[in-house]
Amino acid sequence: MKPALFEYHRAASVAQAVDLLAEDPGAMILAGGQSLVAAMNFRLAAPSRLIDITRIPDLDRIAVTAEGVAVGAAVRHRTLERHDGAHAVNPLIRAAQAHVAHVPIRNRGTVVGSLCHADAAAEMPLVLLLCDGWVELEGPGGNRRIPAEQFFRMHLTTARASDELATRAVFPALPPDAGWAFAEFARRKGDYAIAAVGAIVQCDAGGRITRARLAACGISSKPVRLGRAEAALAGGTADATAAAEAGRAAATHVDAADDSIATAAYRRHLVAALTERVVAEAAARARRGTE
Ligand SMILES: Cc1cc2nc3c(=O)[nH]c(=O)nc-3n(C[C@H](O)[C@H](O)[C@H](O)COP(=O)(O)OP(=O)(O)OC[C@H]3O[C@@H](n4cnc5c(N)ncnc54)[C@H](O)[C@@H]3O)c2cc1C
Repeated sequence: MKPALFEYHRAASVAQAVDLLAEDPGAMILAGGQSLVAAMNFRLAAPSRLIDITRIPDLDRIAVTAEGVAVGAAVRHRTLERHDGAHAVNPLIRAAQAHVAHVPIRNRGTVVGSLCHADAAAEMPLVLLLCDGWVELEGPGGNRRIPAEQFFRMHLTTARASDELATRAVFPALPPDAGWAFAEFARRKGDYAIAAVGAIVQCDAGGRITRARLAACGISSKPVRLGRAEAALAGGTADATAAAEAGRAAATHVDAADDSIATAAYRRHLVAALTERVVAEAAARARRGTE
């Protein structure tokens, strides 16, 4: 099918993009177009106006600072994936990016576009939540930042107001002594995850876990922290028994119903297995760091 008729505007600045959004309630931002254009072709989306933000100066920047990795709204997945400075402070980004679609899609799709699209099975929302990152927005009332915990509301729905442009996302640096891991199961390489789990684990010199953060996607209507699995790990020894116990606790966070891709029981099985794997891998990295 062909999309419904729409106006096309190429914004030259953030201010102009915000004005163009405010003028037309039917307007939508066009970033990489990898999700939006398909939705328009299926007439699942019919914006009256598209505002292309990919040529706005400065939005294509990646800045690695003490805060972490700040990713402008026009930065493509592949650019971030290949950025060695970003990888040095937050290796979870590259690990997760390898699972986002295929290289041609990562060459066009943007990281912030993926966050705004908010597919419940998408990898980058999971990473932003896991790292305690945030999204920065600009609207007619000024700018604000929304922590990942509040940004993702449900599948394809965020806390962004319809007249706001997301200008950048910040993925905080991992603590230098932290171990990390990311694992995903998808039906075919490049598909959205049936389930994916990420972990950040810190251990003391005796191998005891001092801090564990876990998050998953594909198992609920939005990316979720695996709080019960984190609690199961806290203060314990980072061994195979603890990883298996965390996996069992993680499975209790699945609230997806059976669908055409997987049953809820299968997702529980997957999230348990993936959690066990990432906890073991992250703990091993953390121990190597404290040795
Ligand atoms: C075959 C295929 C497989 C894919 N597999 C995966 C996968 O495994 N994992 C995954 O995560 N993604 C996957 N994707 C999606 C891909 O990652 C997209 O790049 C991403 O979802 C959207 O980014 P985009 O820049 O293309 O956004 P667009 O398609 O341009 O926009 C998506 C939505 O976000 C809004 N938006 C975009 N940028 C902004 C902004 N700065 N401010 C406000 N609103 C904004 C748009 O208005 C639109 O509603 C796949 C896509 C395809 C076609």
